[in-house]
Amino acid sequence: MTIPRAPSSSPLARARRVVVKVGSALLTDAETGRINRAWLETLIEDLLRLRRRGQQVILVSSGAIALGRRQLSLAKGPLRLEESQAAAAVGQIRLAHAYKELLESRDVTVAQVLLTLEDSERRHRYLNARATLETLLALGALPVINENDTVATAEIRYGDNDRLAARVAQMAAADCLVLLSDVDGLYTADPNKDPAASFIEEVLKITPEIEAMGGRAASDVGSGGMATKVLAARIAVSAGCHMCIAAGHHRHPVRRIEEEGARCTWFVPSATPVAARKQWIAGTLRPAGAVTIDPGAMRALLDGRSLLPAGVISARGRFERGDTVSVLATDGTEMGRGIVAYSDVDAAKIMGRKSSDIESILGFRGRDEMIHRDDLVLFDHEPAVKKSVGS
Ligand code: GLU
Repeated sequence: MTIPRAPSSSPLARARRVVVKVGSALLTDAETGRINRAWLETLIEDLLRLRRRGQQVILVSSGAIALGRRQLSLAKGPLRLEESQAAAAVGQIRLAHAYKELLESRDVTVAQVLLTLEDSERRHRYLNARATLETLLALGALPVINENDTVATAEIRYGDNDRLAARVAQMAAADCLVLLSDVDGLYTADPNKDPAASFIEEVLKITPEIEAMGGRAASDVGSGGMATKVLAARIAVSAGCHMCIAAGHHRHPVRRIEEEGARCTWFVPSATPVAARKQWIAGTLRPAGAVTIDPGAMRALLDGRSLLPAGVISARGRFERGDTVSVLATDGTEMGRGIVAYSDVDAAKIMGRKSSDIESILGFRGRDEMIHRDDLVLFDHEPAVKKSVGS
């Protein structure tokens, strides 16, 4: 059932932006509780190899609690919330130190980003976190992400880095997410219990049957298990991102997936990240407002360009940065929809003006575009109806 893939056909080789998640069981040595440094070096080499061929890389790393509990000599077994928060505080600094050493000795700047659930669930925080990641990648840094376990309480935490990594992939519009784990993928049943269990190489649709497989075939270490990996896959594929579950304990665990055709399970999305995002925008039930644009701006949009403030004639409705708004022609026809980069109040101040004036008008330097082309959907039919939106 497992056919080795040619490297060129791997979604990993094709991806522009890759998120790799590594679990605590891989990072720390079970005997000593210390960082598994020799192995980690090979992972870092793999990530730098992706960067050398022009791919952008984000690492989601667990391990803070595992490292901290050893340092604090906490007993084996489940920790109380305060204990795991204390362990995370101690472990995260060690983790960050290890990444800094390993990456900076190879001339790569490492950036630590600690996220809480609210950073992906609240729009404003989501946009901020997304902008930070974009900027770090544009500046050539390698973001290393973990949950901010020290402040996250039981009700407001991801709890597992599988879903955190999927949210990060979605936030960064990554095309490929690799979950390195202590299992090599998804089986029809738990292979430790059922000798007839067969390996699943590719999942094209996450059906209730697939979800049930995730529930049964659980991994024994880490807080994730297979169930959270299937949940992560659901988030990733709905954002147009391929996701792979692969065994991570070998040396060079990422290179292995491509070059040695190592066995792993791929979850395949039906759309690209941009297409998935556009489907979501087009499907907005109630745009928060509307901007009317001039014919020159309309021609630019039809040519695939972004909407600049200069082309906006009027704005109506109440909207915030990140809301979906309708884009109207001067006769009121809804030509498309997009995610607006400014609130209605700021949009009213900068419309008709040059992007280079934004900073002096608003007092801060926002995006040059009112709606970036990646955040814009144009309707390809001829919409004959005039809509009244957001009024
Ligand atoms: N954020 C946790 C840590 O760094 C790990 C969560 C997980 O096991 O997925 O220790």
